[in-house]
Amino acid sequence: SKAQLFDKESQINVTFNDVAGLEEAKTEVMEIVDFLKNPKKYTELGGKIPKGALLVGPPGTGKTLLAKAVAGEAQVPFFSLSGSDFVEMFVGVGASRVRDLFKQAKEKAPCIIFIDEIDAIGRARGKNSIMGGNDERENTLNQLLVEMDGFGTNLGVIILAATNRLDVLDQALLRPGRFDRQISIDKPDLIGREQIFNVHLKPLKLAPDVDAKKLSAQTPGFAGAEIANVCNEAALIAARKSKTSIDMQDFQDAIDRVIGGLEKKNKIISPEE
Ligand code: ATP
Repeated sequence: SKAQLFDKESQINVTFNDVAGLEEAKTEVMEIVDFLKNPKKYTELGGKIPKGALLVGPPGTGKTLLAKAVAGEAQVPFFSLSGSDFVEMFVGVGASRVRDLFKQAKEKAPCIIFIDEIDAIGRARGKNSIMGGNDERENTLNQLLVEMDGFGTNLGVIILAATNRLDVLDQALLRPGRFDRQISIDKPDLIGREQIFNVHLKPLKLAPDVDAKKLSAQTPGFAGAEIANVCNEAALIAARKSKTSIDMQDFQDAIDRVIGGLEKKNKIISPEE
């Protein structure tokens, strides 16, 4: 479990260069970077800066990474919390954490607030109320809506949220003035995977036979997080064998290991696109 509910103001050094592929999504968030850097350019013409955007896509595809890159590119503070942290919270605590977070963010504006797994707090109200603690979730969601409505768009606080369950989100979150923009973040295709491999191979000491294109072909259905995992496992496997560089066989073994892990988690590797 996480020690901190939200990172205090953290200066992020992630940039768009760290995010491979996702070209369309990057283009969309570049506009947000520009709002944060030059708010006057927009407000002087009477435009309203959007309050929030929802990053929608399967786990491990780089939603958090992209949100951090927005903060890194704009050089603004990054405040984050995860919806799943609220699941077992005592009554009243969730709402007050949300209030706190917005208060801090407003003091540090311009900045980014990132809410991961927003579906954990943002499920449609009054549905799926099998478990106790649901009232608390509703309080938290209501507080989030209140906070989002309660500040002017020109303050420079932009809220990014991530979900892989757009279908269960409360429609209230998607109204104009809240998360009125949706940016889809899909699993990478063959070329996308090669680009992600290239990012994660860069810091490694590689044997000459290592080929990102071949690795990409061997990893259909992998998201960026799994590719990052393969690269790290390959390094560990090579180190255990006391090799001086990581070769293709190490990557093969790492891919097998990551696939094994995924199967254990009962995740299905989707067929090649
Ligand atoms: P979740 O929904 O599970 O929170 P996510 O979509 O937020 O997942 P991230 O946490 O951003 O995924 O990705 C996990 C890690 O996977 C990143 O820190 C990065 O190392 C790697 N990764 C994922 N996508 C990419 C990408 N497009 N380019 C480079 N690295 C990536």
